[in-house]
Amino acid sequence: MQKGSIGVTTENIFPVIKKFLYSDHEIFLRELVSNAVDATQKLKCFVPNEDLGDITIHIDINKEQGILTISDRGIGMTAEEVDKYINQIAFSGANDFLDKYKDQTIIGHFGLGFYSAFMVSKKVEIITKSFKEGSQAVKWTCDGTPTFEMVEADKDGRGTDIILYIDDECKEFLEKNRIQELLRKYCHFLPVPVACGKKTQWKDGKETETDEDNIINSIVPIWTKKPSDLKDEDYKNFYHDLYPGFDEPLFWIHLNVDYPFKLTGVLYFPKIKNNLELQKGKIQLFCNQVFVTDSVENIVPDFLTLLHGVIDSPDIPLNVSRSYLQSDQNVKKISKYITKKVSDRLDSIFKEDRKGFEEKWDDLKLFITYGLLSEEGFYDKAQQFNLLKDTEGHFFTFEEYKKLIEENQKDKDGTVVYLYAQNQEEQYSYIEAAKAKGYNVLLMDGQLDSALIGLLEGKIEKSRFTRVDSDIIDRLIPKEDTPINTLNEEDTDRISQAFLSQMPKQDKQQFHVETQSMGETGSPLTITQNEFMRRMKDLSHIQQGMAFYGEMPDTYTVVVNTDHPLVKKVLEDCHQATDESLKPVVSEIKGLQARQSVLKDQQSKKKAEEVTQEEKDDLKKCADDINNQELKKKEIISAFASGNSIVHQLIDLSLLQNGLLKGEALSKFISRSISLIK
Ligand code: ADP
Repeated sequence: MQKGSIGVTTENIFPVIKKFLYSDHEIFLRELVSNAVDATQKLKCFVPNEDLGDITIHIDINKEQGILTISDRGIGMTAEEVDKYINQIAFSGANDFLDKYKDQTIIGHFGLGFYSAFMVSKKVEIITKSFKEGSQAVKWTCDGTPTFEMVEADKDGRGTDIILYIDDECKEFLEKNRIQELLRKYCHFLPVPVACGKKTQWKDGKETETDEDNIINSIVPIWTKKPSDLKDEDYKNFYHDLYPGFDEPLFWIHLNVDYPFKLTGVLYFPKIKNNLELQKGKIQLFCNQVFVTDSVENIVPDFLTLLHGVIDSPDIPLNVSRSYLQSDQNVKKISKYITKKVSDRLDSIFKEDRKGFEEKWDDLKLFITYGLLSEEGFYDKAQQFNLLKDTEGHFFTFEEYKKLIEENQKDKDGTVVYLYAQNQEEQYSYIEAAKAKGYNVLLMDGQLDSALIGLLEGKIEKSRFTRVDSDIIDRLIPKEDTPINTLNEEDTDRISQAFLSQMPKQDKQQFHVETQSMGETGSPLTITQNEFMRRMKDLSHIQQGMAFYGEMPDTYTVVVNTDHPLVKKVLEDCHQATDESLKPVVSEIKGLQARQSVLKDQQSKKKAEEVTQEEKDDLKKCADDINNQELKKKEIISAFASGNSIVHQLIDLSLLQNGLLKGEALSKFISRSISLIK
């Protein structure tokens, strides 16, 4: 028997190992199975022409005794090798590792190696026999102190058993389900068969074990194969194996580089309709077929984390902090390479099969938009294949679309106005009005379209985007200065006040009224929503730091068509109903205004310090009196308007058209409408 102390320089590293990476204790299994795979692969190198027999790696659980065993049929170790590789190298590696990375979160906690066994065990045994002829099997034992024991042992055949006496706090690792889950996570694609327990089958409504080994990694990791050896079916099957229950992917890219870095993988374009955040984090990162992590942010650009699939590269540094990753030269190259591959692929699909690309557009759009917005440099590539869709379902590239509208939708200042709708149903009548005028309307109903619009305005010279309902049709693309209205000031005031006074009064809504000549057949009342404010509010939902806009009320403009017979009728009725009572008020206001201008005139001739308090008070009183009279006037007009069913009917119809008529107001409208049917 040999006793000795292992190559630990620190007094005792075991407590540290146990505490270290507490939440990641599970990775011991990956480390030990990886070692077993390495030992098996090495054997293939040493004796390439021999029949190795069954090389399956077995994971066995003995719950009663609290033991978990990992057995391989690899090269095994002689006593000298155990001494060298386990006692010296493995533990000095442990020291280095802990010294370096104690205080950092590390991407994959890779290379913890054999000693990670002590994260979950109170005692570890190795029983191993070298493949070399006539080797003596040995048993090494260590109970978590820096001393070990090594004795000769009996073992049939070559290979290594790592026997873990699982800690009381780590009993979860004696559960078959938990171990199988971990093996599926980390060892799903290892190149040597890994078995845990027996296959089960359903018989008479019960799950029973068969004699057959339950192989965890029966799926071939297709990214290690040549693309020319794979069929579409293989890619699809592999996808469904990775993501059971997901929709068929749109298409995929097989990555395969040798130089200047090594990288293989398959990336899939999933169907992404909405909920960006939920889609992220599905790419799995491997290092030589061993699973590392499924959070690849910092390795690929943010928008690419929406893709699915696997990346396998030994050149991504794993024992480094996440923040370091971005500055790593290899990672930079890898990130650039993948971005280029993705845009090249999209470009070639677009060129080869535009129709097919258009059909997939709705599922692709969010991904591409996200790329345009978040990844500098992607825009230049993507403008070749990024599509704009109009409200009739036609697709255009940026360039094609510009050509389409350039002439007809140029305003008087030479700016090309891109009209868009966000909701085809809600903005139906505005879309129709624009189409009737020969304009084209884009459909911008995607989750990120408000932000995209801002980007495009910046990129496309002399362009402006405006939603179809942001103004009345004649002013949407101002061609020449449009005449305002034909009414005199007093009538403009009355008609505006009549409608404004009857608009709904709610905290989160604000209306103001404008009058405009729009011809007899133009709609009598149109509600529009200012483009800027609305867009800011939209953006506040997707961009941080814009909450201020989100809190602002929705502001609407009510445009009254002074040419419309119904509006004229309201004005007429207003005259009849209010002329008499308004007369004294109006003349009072006129008198007060005349007095006000005289007073102002007098005072303006004096120096500021010469104006007496009395004179100042006089002017102030005059202004207050005008205000009071104006209020009186407003009250008189409101009183008329509140009893005028045309005003209410017109307001309600325009609210209805914009989806703003709800609840009590809606049912009032319905009963009023019924009573109007004669
Ligand atoms: P690493 O695998 O990174 O070299 P480890 O601490 O995991 O570090 O292992 C140290 C060494 O012990 C390995 O390099 C290998 O030589 C030996 N070893 C570990 N596990 C086995 C095994 N199952 N079969 C044969 N040799 C092994």
